[in-house]
Amino acid sequence: MISNINYVKEVLGELKAKKKFGQNFLIDSNVVDKIAKGACDPECLTIEIGPGLGALSEMLLKYSKAVDAYEIDRDMYDILNRTIDNERFKVTLEDFLDTDLSKYENEEIRICSNLPYYVTTPILFKLFNSNLNISKITVMVQKEVADRFKAPVNSEDYNALSLIVQYLYNVKLEMNVPKGVFYPQPKVDSAVISFTPKIVRNFEYEKGLFEFIEKCFMKRRKTLNNNLRDFLDKETIEKIFSTLSLKESVRAQELTLDEFIKMYEVVNNGN
Ligand code: SAM
Repeated sequence: MISNINYVKEVLGELKAKKKFGQNFLIDSNVVDKIAKGACDPECLTIEIGPGLGALSEMLLKYSKAVDAYEIDRDMYDILNRTIDNERFKVTLEDFLDTDLSKYENEEIRICSNLPYYVTTPILFKLFNSNLNISKITVMVQKEVADRFKAPVNSEDYNALSLIVQYLYNVKLEMNVPKGVFYPQPKVDSAVISFTPKIVRNFEYEKGLFEFIEKCFMKRRKTLNNNLRDFLDKETIEKIFSTLSLKESVRAQELTLDEFIKMYEVVNNGN
């Protein structure tokens, strides 16, 4: 079992976990098994970002058709090539942000990763913006990042990012994960969250909707009306307020996703 403190220390040997690559290795096999089991489909290929020493890769292989992993650190890449001997496992030495995903266009895939914390948002947005058939994304992130993605209306963490993600996906907190299951131990707790697609993608429509949502949150402390005045005429703003029966004093963070969609319809179609 790779997710074991003795194995991790032994295989690392002289090497140190690299902070610049966000290396915190999983050392609890029960947690790893649970993550992999929920993330995979035996009929699907799983893409793993940052396999590290292979703790998660080993379990992903148990529940997937095959695993394609992308690792930025040559030391990890060399260790994996020595230690995981399985024809269903392929590791590529590459920064995932540079990976060309077009070769996966014709198949249903799953994504699973204990994400390097320094690059969580760009990696997730690379996946959200791709036109791949990804039936589930399961990732370990810092607890506070998970809270932001899941934030309900009117909460402190609720912002344009939460709305955009919740428009595209059903976001589920799979489990909270304490610091103690990693080596070295990070400073903060983590959580595993999953994203399951909930709409048929329409990239052109989404671009307009997301820009509209972002503009509504531009000045978070100001009212919605004040934000709208920066980019809409008086007549359209009045129409928004009357169609949605909004109070003059309403702020963007008090509005639900459905209300943003309705407002955007008024802007676009006048109804
Ligand atoms: N999967 C292993 C585990 O759970 O024990 C390691 C997870 S560790 C949090 C993150 C891993 O991502 C490290 O192995 C790190 O080298 C790798 N990594 C960091 N940035 C990356 C990037 N841009 N592309 C691919 N891998 C990256």
